[in-house]
This record gives sequence, structure tokens and C-alpha cells, in this order.
Amino acid sequence: MASVIRPLLSQLNRSHIRHFDIQPLIETLSHEQAIHVYHEGNSFEGRSIKRIRFGHGPITILAWTQMHGNEATATASVFDLLDILLANEQGTEGFGSLFTIDIVPMLNPDGAERCIRHNAQAIDINRDAMAQQTLEGRILLRLVDELSPKVAFNLHDQSPYYQCGTNGNPSTIAFLAPAFDVDKSIDESRALAMTLISKMRQAIAPHIPECIARYDDTFSPRSFGDRIAGKGAATILIESGAARNDPNRQIARKMNVVGMLSALEFLAAKENGEVSEKECDQLKDSYWEIPENTSETLSSLVIRDLHFVGQHSYKASVSIKQTARYSNAFFIDAVGDLGVQAGLEEFDASELSFEPGKVHTLQAPTILTNDSYHEWLKQGVIQFQGEIHNMDNQSDYPVLLNQPIPADPRALILQQPAYFLMKKGSQIKAAVINGRLIRLED
Ligand SMILES: [Zn+2]
Repeated sequence: MASVIRPLLSQLNRSHIRHFDIQPLIETLSHEQAIHVYHEGNSFEGRSIKRIRFGHGPITILAWTQMHGNEATATASVFDLLDILLANEQGTEGFGSLFTIDIVPMLNPDGAERCIRHNAQAIDINRDAMAQQTLEGRILLRLVDELSPKVAFNLHDQSPYYQCGTNGNPSTIAFLAPAFDVDKSIDESRALAMTLISKMRQAIAPHIPECIARYDDTFSPRSFGDRIAGKGAATILIESGAARNDPNRQIARKMNVVGMLSALEFLAAKENGEVSEKECDQLKDSYWEIPENTSETLSSLVIRDLHFVGQHSYKASVSIKQTARYSNAFFIDAVGDLGVQAGLEEFDASELSFEPGKVHTLQAPTILTNDSYHEWLKQGVIQFQGEIHNMDNQSDYPVLLNQPIPADPRALILQQPAYFLMKKGSQIKAAVINGRLIRLED
């Protein structure tokens, strides 16, 4: 059976979620008998921060999302989770009698409004766990003190350029049981967090087997996860990351739900005495078998072994990254031997050579369709100059109009926008325009 919010969930399939987007969901949920909505306070700019409670059982869970305003994936996940919990509750005594689950969706609505990490004071709330100078951070710490959760889910998004170990795959989900002291001690609650993480990994591994990583556990006292772990909650950080061809991170969205549900099922089984000490110990130890989250070894696109022909000919790979997750701008990140680098998209250019491309001056109104764009590229034209009103881009690609021309177009320049052509003999075979790879058919 579907819950009352199910018709609204597809609206959360988007790259970013703002305060405005989740109000209809919270409002709809507030009429449900199994749900209580509490107003916990306002953000610095006066946006409401709500807590949604499901259930009335003895096992207490607290989850919060979007402490960083531009990390919206798990905000969709927690509504998916509530949808499933409500649907299961209909007609049966489900998790509601075993758990009390409190969820704060979007702890940083001001940052979400601007699509930035920080809050309206330009403070990173996740470095305010000690100083407590943000209203949003204070709300979270007060909730932890009042609710004393057994398990705390700290839900974030990470850079798309984290790799799962060194296997060439993106880290679509990364877990951490944060340390609560410099010695990285393991007390009962951290052990439970590690056990639950292993259980969650087992549940999501069939879906994304090579894309689950473990985050670095260096103690960070200013961070909420570490502070809350020190208060005796089994604290679990989940970082949602990239997957190939998944710009809105819907795979990570789903994996958060699969993971959290499996954690609840395990806790329920444990409560009912169905889990042995030995199984718990084995799960706890297997936490360390999760490959490490390797930072900055992925990029959006890697062009492999491109030839640069000239007085000094050479061969080099090129990696291209986005300036920021929500930006449409891409830049040249590295050139050379990129053996350790993997691309979310890879292109073999070993039979191709670099071609900077020509500029065409617009003299008359020009309409670009995908087909006509391909023809321009095949003729070596990569940029246009002229009056803006003379260019009508109806293609799916970005267009370069009146860009500054590099001083030396024969080589690529680091940190500069990524656009060039690739040819075989005299035939143009592919183009990179603003970081986007375009393959040209013969
Ligand atoms: Zn974050």
C-alpha cells in the first residue's frame, strides 16, 4: 500500500532541494496518525527547522540531513524512508512499536536556498560543534541531548571525485563510524555503529558492489559526528556520492534507504535476541575490510593518450573536472601520465591527435542543431564570434561564443576551460566543449 507522501516523492528527483520543496511533504505527513511534526526553531534567516517523528518504541533513532546546504541527496532519502515505514505500518504493528525515529530533514535551509555548504553566517555548521555559534548547530546538539538517540545518522553528500579504494569506481556511498577521541577508541556505541555499517554494506552491496567505501576516521572535535559519538550515540556518517550517468544521485538516494532499513531490521532482530554475540563481533571486524574512500583520484572525464603533434611531439592524457558540483563550467585539471586517475567517463584517444580548432565569425543568423553543430565541428570550428542575437543554439551542447582566445592554442592550459578537438589524420573524430565529450560519426 502506498503512503500519503508517495505521489510527492518523484518531485525530489532533482540535483538540488530547497526548503520550499519539502514543505508540502512535511505538511502532508503532519496529518498522519503515526507521525508527529515538531517545530524546533528557525535558521539564521528565519526558515523553519522541523523534526518529524515516527513511532513510539524503545529504540531511539535520530537522523538529520543537509547540514551542508548543497548536499541534498539524503533529504530525498529520509522522505522515501518515511514513506516505506508508513506503508508498512498500515494494518500491522510494524516498526512503530519498536522504534522512535526522529528526522530533521534539512538542518541548514539558508545554505540550501543558496545551494552552498555554509549557512547564512558563512559558517560551516559541521565545524561549529564546539563553538556553538550557529542556531542550526545548537538545535542539533539540543536534540541529541534531549532525545539521547541510540543510533544517530549524520547524512551528507561528498565530492563526485572520491574513488572507492583504487578500483576506478566512484564512491557512491561512503560510511564512517566517527572517532570520539584522538586515540580513536572503540566503546560500545562505536562498536555498534561499525556493526551496523557492515550490515548496511551487506544490504547495498548487491546493488553497487564496487562503489562502497569507508571514510577516514581522523578525530575532528569541531565536527558534529565526532561530538555526538562522544555523547554515547552509535553515530553513522553516510556520504552520498556520484555514480556513472546519475547526475541527480538517485542511486545514492536509494542506497541510503536500503542501508537505513537494513540497520533498523538488524536492530529489531538484535532486540528480539535473534543475533548472536559472535555475529556482532564478526560484523564489527569486517568494518575494516571496506575499501577506503580515496579523495580526488577521480575526475569527470579522462581522455587517454592523446597525441600532440608539433616540433616536440608527445602523448598525454587529459583529465577534466567541474568547477563545482552545480556548475556547468569544466576545467583542465591535469595533463600527462594519469595512470592513477580514473574518469567517471573515459575516452581512448590513442589514435587521435589534439587540434585546437578554429573560430568562425558570425555574419548572419545561425541556428545550431545537433546535426549542424556536428558539421561545424567536423570542419574544425569550435568557437563562434559575433553578435549574440546571431546565434540560436537549439542543440543539446554548450556553445562557445566570444570566448577569449588562448595565447598559445597548441597546448592545454591547466585550470582553464576545457575545449578542443581530436582528429585522426585530417578528420575530426571528437570534441570536448566545456568539458562535454562529443563523438562525431563518420
Ligand atoms: Zn557535508
